[in-house]
Amino acid sequence: MSPSKPQAMLIDGKAIAQEITESLVHQVTQLKEKNITPGLAVVLVGEDPASQVYVRNKGKMAEKIGLHSVQHSLPAATSEADILARIEALNEDPSIHGILVQLPLPDHIDSAKVLRLIRPEKDVDGFHPVNVGLLATGLNDQALVPCTPAGCVTLAKHHRGDDLSGLEAVIIGRSNIVGKPVAQLLLQENCTTTIVHSRTKNLEQHIGRADILVACLGRAQFVKGDWIKQGATVIDVGINRIDAPEKGPGKTRLVGDVDFDSALPIAGAITPVPGGVGPMTIAMLMQNVVTAAQRLSKQ
Ligand code: NAP
Repeated sequence: MSPSKPQAMLIDGKAIAQEITESLVHQVTQLKEKNITPGLAVVLVGEDPASQVYVRNKGKMAEKIGLHSVQHSLPAATSEADILARIEALNEDPSIHGILVQLPLPDHIDSAKVLRLIRPEKDVDGFHPVNVGLLATGLNDQALVPCTPAGCVTLAKHHRGDDLSGLEAVIIGRSNIVGKPVAQLLLQENCTTTIVHSRTKNLEQHIGRADILVACLGRAQFVKGDWIKQGATVIDVGINRIDAPEKGPGKTRLVGDVDFDSALPIAGAITPVPGGVGPMTIAMLMQNVVTAAQRLSKQ
């Protein structure tokens, strides 16, 4: 009998997210005892099916942990002025502690302008320049930190333990919503942090150094197992839909940015897609709403 190949530990984002949301129920109960029900408002513009699913899942989780949850679904043709007016009203609404505008917004709307109008204390996505600046200057305790990046670090710690000092972290992707904030957070954890992107030379060499690899480039199964350092912690942020003829004609399935099958015997631990980073994003959003309610209630 041939010895079985080593297999990476699967980092179960669903289970870890559930632990986080269960712990939030207690904090929500404590707030309710003070007559504060944390409130989340999600603004969805247009009929993008993926966005509709994300928004529905966020609303369901909010209700599950006892939050007050409202959804503002606006037609794709809504004017920028109407959206801005909606945000201003939510900024002033004392029953709302967290405002989330589901991205992407239709092309005729200036997303940056909309995100800048959200009161930073209610910006539970952490995309307002004030929150970006607080994170960049290490003032996380005053910031609302972006949800997916915060989830990535929690998942990495699940494999590596709380002390990430001195580890080589490589992040593939430099978007404002994932790559850059993940890099900020890992830098604060004292990792030696490298961001690589579409113009990076010798990409595979950089990837091969990573003790912690965060793939957030949005290219299906891009990172191959033999690029990865033996024993690395692989956090796969990508959500890509590909054809799955093996499931039947016209069928599709979700995959990450990492080629899971070839990474499995090399990595020390890996997040599956689905069931890794995705559920953590929602859990961290709920955490941010509760944090925002706690802070606003003290003002
Ligand atoms: P994005 O804005 O498109 O950014 C992609 C980044 O990857 C860019 O910085 C780009 O480089 C880089 N890149 C693209 N192709 C590359 C290549 N061949 N080699 C190296 N770098 C490359 O994407 P995003 O919004 O950050 O999202 C990334 C992925 O995460 C997507 O699959 C998205 O669906 C997923 N996502 C998942 C969650 C979740 O909850 N699980 C949340 C958010 C996003 P340049 O800057 O040079 O163009």
